[in-house]
Amino acid sequence: MQALRGTKDILPDEIIFWQYLYNKATEVLSLSNYSEIRTPILESTSLFQRSIGDGTDIVNKEMYSFIDQGSRNITLRPEGTASIARSFISNKLYQSNQTQRLWYLGPMFRYERPQAGRQRQFHQLGIECIGSPNPMADAEVIRLAHNILKALNCHTYKLELNCIGDLEERNNYKAKLIEYLLPYKQDLDNDSQKRLTINPLRILDSKDQKTQTILMNAPRLTESLTTASIEHFNLVCEYLKNLNIPFNINDQLVRGLDYYNHTAFEIKTDLLGSQDTICGGGRYDKLIKQLGGTDTPAVGWAIGIERLMLIVKNTLPINQQKPLIYLATHGMEAQKKIWEIILILEKEQLTFELDLNNSSLQKQLKRANKSGAILCLILGNNEIEKQTITLKWLYQGLQETIQVANLSKELKKIHILNHNLTIHSN
Ligand code: ATP
Ligand code: MG
Repeated sequence: MQALRGTKDILPDEIIFWQYLYNKATEVLSLSNYSEIRTPILESTSLFQRSIGDGTDIVNKEMYSFIDQGSRNITLRPEGTASIARSFISNKLYQSNQTQRLWYLGPMFRYERPQAGRQRQFHQLGIECIGSPNPMADAEVIRLAHNILKALNCHTYKLELNCIGDLEERNNYKAKLIEYLLPYKQDLDNDSQKRLTINPLRILDSKDQKTQTILMNAPRLTESLTTASIEHFNLVCEYLKNLNIPFNINDQLVRGLDYYNHTAFEIKTDLLGSQDTICGGGRYDKLIKQLGGTDTPAVGWAIGIERLMLIVKNTLPINQQKPLIYLATHGMEAQKKIWEIILILEKEQLTFELDLNNSSLQKQLKRANKSGAILCLILGNNEIEKQTITLKWLYQGLQETIQVANLSKELKKIHILNHNLTIHSN
């Protein structure tokens, strides 16, 4: 049996990187008063249709939707923002009158063609700053993406920024763009031809050369923006400059989700080939109202964890976890008594692995050597008779037998030894 196409098992030697990332994110985000939120993976299909938008790729062809046994239309969430907006409304988080600063990490589902950096079940780390129209909020969230990437040793990336205006400005622009593109319709790539009526703005980030050449003389989105939009955007740019966060303005950057307005941004890397976007985000001032909540401006982003992992994994200061102590027993009495030794180890907070194989001491010692432990504790009939225990220091090959009563004291050595070994192996 295989895992489903586009899904992956994350095995223990990989999980330690995920735990590291989770802890770093918690550390960086709680400093700025962001709290973790976990929303359900299952939501009503209509939530995503109403928020992400009917004409988008995600809703059109990428959703994992099904009808449950109660005849409800359910979708495995393809992204986090819509669910959080829903949660903000249904839990009346607006009642506190405080800016809600939330973050999440969890699996997302999109029916796409799997390839490097693109899966059907993937994970996003995301943040949402809900309740402020201030360009400072845009700067705060972008700065936090920057901080997290830095904390994870990811330094070579490009931040691209654009102002995509509000719905009215975009509609004005859409009309101009369609008018300009219609005479070239036959020359556009297939996807762009379809998008001309459903989602013309997405044509701007088409990767097709011919389409891009046609677009060179197209009207610019900036020309349809009002002063208010431009002022907001200029402030965001000014704050980022003051923060020494480098960025490029890319006036063709539009995002694949309908709810964004004003600021839209992406963080890209040169290290990943064609799946080069690690983070996408922007403002979504109308989403919460559109879903039936009060008029609440918000801004946020999401980082794709699998893509980020591909870049940072080998640079993270992580040692594979090995138990410090290996426990070998010989005979029935020892198997009963070993639990008393385990109690001592737990009290001293020492990691251990108990051999469960019921094989000869020799074989157990072989496994002890393989396990990477520093010390093997051996409990056999002799030891039990004399209330002793045998310690075999696996790196030095030294062996000693001591009174069980002295074990705690003797075990203190292990910390010093482990410290020295770690220094040498780094
Ligand atoms: P792309 O253009 O690569 O499809 P997107 O615009 O659909 O990305 P968003 O919806 O903005 O992506 O999601 C934010 C981030 O989540 C992306 O930048 C990417 O890192 C990650 N991501 C999106 N889809 C996938 C996927 N199928 N597999 C792995 N990561 C993904
Ligand atoms: Mg996509």
